[in-house]
Amino acid sequence: GMKTSSGVYEKPEPVTKVDHDIWVYMDHYDGNVNSTSLEILGAARRVADLMNTKLAAVVIGDEIDNIIDTAFKYGADRVYAGVTEGYKNYDNDAYTEALSLMIKKYSPEAIFYPGTSNARELASTTAIQVNTGLIADCIIFDVDEKGQLLSTRPDFGGKETSTIICPNNRPIMVTTRSGVFSAMPPMDKKGDVIKEDIKDLKTRIKLLEYKKLEKRNILNDADIVIGVGRGIVNRDNIGIVEDLANRLGAVVGVSKPLADMGWYPKDRQVGQTGTTIHPNVYIAIGISGAIQHLVGIQGSKKIIAINNDPSAPIFENCDYGIVGDLFTVVPELIKRLGEQ
Ligand code: FAD
Repeated sequence: GMKTSSGVYEKPEPVTKVDHDIWVYMDHYDGNVNSTSLEILGAARRVADLMNTKLAAVVIGDEIDNIIDTAFKYGADRVYAGVTEGYKNYDNDAYTEALSLMIKKYSPEAIFYPGTSNARELASTTAIQVNTGLIADCIIFDVDEKGQLLSTRPDFGGKETSTIICPNNRPIMVTTRSGVFSAMPPMDKKGDVIKEDIKDLKTRIKLLEYKKLEKRNILNDADIVIGVGRGIVNRDNIGIVEDLANRLGAVVGVSKPLADMGWYPKDRQVGQTGTTIHPNVYIAIGISGAIQHLVGIQGSKKIIAINNDPSAPIFENCDYGIVGDLFTVVPELIKRLGEQ
């Protein structure tokens, strides 16, 4: 990975010389840069140094001075600014057109996008416009001795990783996973701003209202999550798990089959297509430990599993395991907690 324990960036020896810049797309809203864009600047800084080329931020929008300053502060050598009059905030049609124009005019070697939903959408629509490919959800970058970018991404729900090279298409476009890379320490820095006024942009979208999403999934804030799976047999039996959860101050989550059957709301599903959780303690009850479930619980500090099948995969992915019938173990736990 690219996180350094000291938090200080150590400039690597260049392995090659690439003529074109490395760009990082700055995602922003209301004049403020999204923090994941700064993390990606940190990741791309190292790539640009290995390639012995310039690191540039690309900023699309209107009233973008603050964003330009921030890009320099977090490591950009120069900024390409596509000024889209009237489009202060992200609009897919307008920003795709503006960014594509900038790419065609200035030919970057690669463009890194943060893992925000707007930037991911923009990456895909722009890739089509400039006729290049897109490597999604990257977690590691390196440069080989030929100067080629090596982009590594998880596959099969995180079970394997693939490393992808692009010998032909330029620019190489990558989107990145949020929270994996570290921003550079802020610095007092300025550089060239290459500004383009982009006029007559067209859009098919009319933004009527912008509502900020207030709702946070309670699974994300829980100190203890108890996950319940198909071993519970029916909806009514979840009552004993809820009882245990109440005593522990825990939040109940479910495996996918339970959410699919409507036994619990979809926003309580834990896993790849549900919520990724990071509690101090996760207790998996009657859950087999399928890979799609495991990827959502890997961030838990301690995992405890209760399952009557000693060969269930969850036992290879837990800190403590109780092999036993949940209908015996859970009531016993409740009883012991009551005695405390
Ligand atoms: P099972 O696999 O049926 O396991 C039940 C377990 O309960 C067994 O290990 C059994 O030994 C145990 N058991 C039975 N009776 C008892 C008892 N009396 N006491 C103790 N233990 C008992 N799954 C998710 O959870 N989250 C996701 O986000 C998700 N996304 C998916 C995305 C894709 C694209 C695909 C293909 C699948 C996804 N799945 C997801 C489904 C996943 O593959 C598994 O099918 C699912 O996690 C299994 O749920 P389970 O562990 O509850 O059920």
